[in-house]
Formats: sequence, structure tokens, C-alpha cells
Amino acid sequence: MKYVSTRGTAPVLSFGDVLLAGLASDGGLYVPEKLPSYSKEEIASWASLSYQELAFKVMWPFVEGEIPADEFTRMIDEAYAGFNHSAVAPMVQTDSNEWVLELFRGPTLAFKDFALQLLGRLMDYVLAKRNEKLVILGATSGDTGSAAIEGCRHSDHLDIFILHPYQRVSEVQRRQMTTVIDDNVYNIAVKGNFDDCQGMVKASFADQSFLNGAKLGAVNSINWARIMAQIVYYFSSALAVGGPHRKVSFSVPTGNFGDIFAGYLAKQMGLPIDQLIVATNQNDILHRTIAENDMSRQSLNVTLSPSMDIMVSSNFERLLFDAHGRDSDALTDLMSRFNAGDVTLSDEAWAYVKDNFDSHKVDDARTCEVIAEVFESTQYLLDPHTAIGLEAARKCWKDKSVPMITLATAHPVKFPEAVEKANCESPSLPEHMKDLFERDESYEVLENELADIQSYVAKNI
Ligand SMILES: *Cc1c(COP(=O)(O)O)cnc(C)c1O
Repeated sequence: MKYVSTRGTAPVLSFGDVLLAGLASDGGLYVPEKLPSYSKEEIASWASLSYQELAFKVMWPFVEGEIPADEFTRMIDEAYAGFNHSAVAPMVQTDSNEWVLELFRGPTLAFKDFALQLLGRLMDYVLAKRNEKLVILGATSGDTGSAAIEGCRHSDHLDIFILHPYQRVSEVQRRQMTTVIDDNVYNIAVKGNFDDCQGMVKASFADQSFLNGAKLGAVNSINWARIMAQIVYYFSSALAVGGPHRKVSFSVPTGNFGDIFAGYLAKQMGLPIDQLIVATNQNDILHRTIAENDMSRQSLNVTLSPSMDIMVSSNFERLLFDAHGRDSDALTDLMSRFNAGDVTLSDEAWAYVKDNFDSHKVDDARTCEVIAEVFESTQYLLDPHTAIGLEAARKCWKDKSVPMITLATAHPVKFPEAVEKANCESPSLPEHMKDLFERDESYEVLENELADIQSYVAKNI
């Protein structure tokens, strides 16, 4: 499989190169030159496979030529061995023909484990083959750092440094990161805020001379391999409710547009999908774009669903590339118009987006009501991101004979504030995390100074 940049001037790359590169050198995002496609008969023949076997079938064409089949099988098995349910991505019914897909059974209790558990292993394999090492540097406002750390901790060829704002993340969030004690894991608490952390990461990528020849890498949500790993559970869940012989619909709590874009790819690859619903919180640029062709940036709202608090969704560019007939010149032109302040798509591009997606926006108050209502009717506790997804599903659902699957992106124990505001009791930590508050921690507290951070990194690689 070859990969091309949405902006068209970066080199065409193999899977291994795309995996390590992240962003394309022309500022675009890598996408497969041509997607694999599967017939209904072929998809139907996968109905009795385990999650891991299905993952191999769905992802194999994307990695073929770079990773040998037996190695890929091993990586998939290892990546999902740490999940606490043998179905890996089980489903729970919340009403007639309405389902929740539990994507929070991994080590950090959020769906990002699906991609990052595999990504760390893929990177390690490719780096070993090339006899290279990579330094992963990232910043987190609290929630997503742990999934990256858990994904990289077993990689001999990766060192990972994650910056978080000192005393500004919750104790559970901090401990999920700092209790991972491995030779290649470095947690840094910066005496500043999240923007300071992110600014220092950006500055370090722009000038890597402080590393004395080592190279920086990123595992953020624009990495193609993360999207790839997320395609699998659209197939597994559709098969579980009667696909591909019947259509299914999905509602996805959305931030950077990575997760739902994987659903769109599943559809392009042949899975019969009726609706793909983009569920947003008050940070609603995607909802405004789909509903009204308004892509204007607005200031960031802090909500009860922080993993969806974004101003601009980085992966949306991948969809816009298709919406412009995969014409990279048209896409590049659009991106420069955006940067100059234009906020609308052409009628054709907007029509393409609207044909493929529905959308709905949910505020904090309604999010808490949904948590309470669903708990009352089913005794099932939703996290705030999932509650937004379920509300959007119910509001946008066109044909009740089509099964509706909402992606449950996090376990409610991670977001106790919303659960308490919904007057529900906070759940206890799952078995594999019960002793989180007794475990040893390891992290370095550093001043909000680029030079301090960089010399700490350089010293420890
Ligand atoms: C990251 C995240 C999302 C948003 O996913 P995107 O792929 O960025 O759209 C939603 N919910 C939770 C809990 C997340 O961690």
C-alpha cells in the first residue's frame, strides 16, 4: 500500500514511513492511495472470527509489504491481550435496537487504547528493522497522555516524554501516567499550563538540535496507523447486530474527527452503513460545518467532556480531500483560504459532507440529564462523552429498523464530575486499576522553561 499527502507535494510513502512521519512534509495528512474494498459475502464470512482475527483481515492490506503476517498477528494479539473483556469491544443494549459499543476495556479505560496499543508495537517493529530509535514527545491536558504512555512502554526503540501541567490534572489522571515505571517512560510536570506544555513541544519539533542527532516522533491523532486500527470495531460491531446483510448506523462522540473518519472508511471499504452521526459538545465547529456550512473558529469552551474540547478538528482535512474529488490542488487552495479567514466550503464539497454525515450538538446540562435518564431506565452508567453520542443518536436516527450503535469512548470512572452532576453515584475503579492510589509514582517537576525541558530530555535519551 502506498500513501499520498492530502496536499499533494510531499513524497508518496510506504506504511513504515507514514507510521514514523506523522504529518506530511507539505503540511498535509497521509491517506491510502487506494482503499481496499470487500464484498458483502467476504464481510459476512468474518462473522465468527475473534476480534483479533478480524483485526488482521481488515488491516492487512494497509500494512502488507512492510510487516510480515506472523509479526502482525503477534502484535495484534499482544495489543488486545491487556483488555479486560475477551470480546475486546463488547456491546450493551440500551433500548430497542439501540446499542452502546464499549471501547473502554483497555488499560487506560478509553478508546484511544485501541490505536495506541497497536501503534507502539508497530513503531517498535519498524524501528528495529531500520536500526533506528525515536523520541516520542507530547503534551497532555490530562486525559490522553496515559494512553500514549501505555502504548509505548514496552517498546525498546522508543523513549517517551509526556509533559503535563503541574498540579492541574486530576489525581487519577496523574497517577495513570506517573505509576507507569519503565526505563523508557518519562513524565514531566511543568510549572505552567497546558498551552505552555504544548508550546514547548511545538518548539522542540521545529528545532531538534538539542537532541544531538536523535529524532522526535509523535503519536498524536493525525497518525494514519491510529485511524487504521479504529476501522476494525465498526466491522466487529456491525457483524454482531446482523451486518452486512442489514445496514447499521453509528453515532460517534467527536473531537479531532479521527474516530468517526475510521467509520467513514469502513463504509468506503464496503460495510453497509446507513448513518454516521457526528456528536459534539459546545465546541461545535463540526456540527456547524455539517448543518450550516459554517467553519468559523470560535473560542474554546471548557466542558464536562474535555476530550472533545477542540477548536479545529485536525483529521477533517482527510474528509475534505475526498470532498474535493481527491484533488490536492483544490484542497491546498481551500486550506490557504481558511487561513486567510474564509469559512465556507463550495456547494459540491458541502453536499459531499452532508451526504455522508449527520450531526448534533449537546450542551453540559443536557449531557447530565442523559446520564441520569439512561441510568434510570437501564441501570447503565454512561460517561459524558458517550452520553453526548447517545443523545445525538436518538435525535438524528432516521429509520428505527436500522440498528443504532453509539461508540462508548470512555469509562465513567474517568469523568466523575459529570456523573456527580447527574446525581449518580461514581463507579469504582475496575479490577486492574483498584490499587492505583497505592502504586509508586515517578515524575520530574520542572520550571516552565524550554531550556530546562530540553536538557532533561537530552540527558535521558
Ligand atoms: C479522544 C476522545 C474523543 C474524540 O475522538 P476523536 O477521534 O478525536 O474525534 C471522544 N471521547 C473520548 C473519551 C476521547 O478520549
